[in-house]
Amino acid sequence: MNTKPLQDKVILVTGASYGIGEAAVYGFAKAGATVIMLARTEDKLNTIYDDMVAQGLPEPVIVAFDLETAPEEAYFQLRDMIGKEFGKLDGLLLNAAMLGQRTPISNYNWQTWNKVMDLNVNSQFLMARTLLPLLESAENHAALLFTSSSVGRQSKAYWGAYAVSKFAIEGLMQTMATELENTSHVRVNSYNPGGTRTSMRAAAYPAENPEQVKAPEAIIDEYIYLMSDASHHIHGQALDFKG
Ligand code: NAP
Repeated sequence: MNTKPLQDKVILVTGASYGIGEAAVYGFAKAGATVIMLARTEDKLNTIYDDMVAQGLPEPVIVAFDLETAPEEAYFQLRDMIGKEFGKLDGLLLNAAMLGQRTPISNYNWQTWNKVMDLNVNSQFLMARTLLPLLESAENHAALLFTSSSVGRQSKAYWGAYAVSKFAIEGLMQTMATELENTSHVRVNSYNPGGTRTSMRAAAYPAENPEQVKAPEAIIDEYIYLMSDASHHIHGQALDFKG
């Protein structure tokens, strides 16, 4: 069994400071990857960095970046920084998102709607479009993985902008997947992690006992597989946590 399926790969994770993203950072690094960790909370990224170095994991890179408010120029600067440092990107996990309000559309706040769309849709487009050339610079089999949700495939009452934003992510994934199908080694998929014990889950289900929800670490083997060359044939798929 290959214990380092991500050896020598460079993978960027958005929303790397907490929750599923933090667990993905550790999982990818333990599988051999150099991880570029992107989030707003620089102190937390520094803590993760120190811990990873102390554990002897590949030294990660910290990117303090607000995906909701950063101008387009900042995405080009990020691309140039990664290009200068690594010359390629083997994997891009677009994980950061926000919940917004859990309320009927008739009551939904316009500012909140726009914030959710800026982070959950517009920044995903800017990251995917701007970093695609770096994924195409990888030697082979680069992976672009969007993060979806069950309400991004079949919506439900009171999920508002979050559900709509995840439908948009599925549309972006399908559009890019068909565009790249015969012309690129970059595979594009979406992944629904399902209910997972994070601060977002607690905000969505405040009455739930967190101990009854799986920990982020439960997902990580599936993420490692989807970032590894073993999944190179999976393209244009809306995937779910299998468990
Ligand atoms: P979470 O615990 O709320 O973590 C969100 C991450 O995104 C944090 O690291 C946060 O870090 C970062 N982030 C938030 N706003 C940002 C911004 N403006 N710029 C950059 N980074 C930002 O969420 P999660 O539960 O781990 O969810 C991760 C993904 O899985 C999301 O796409 C979510 O929709 C999806 N998902 C989750 C569940 C679940 O049950 N948890 C179920 C289905 C789908 P900073 O605050 O430091 O920026």
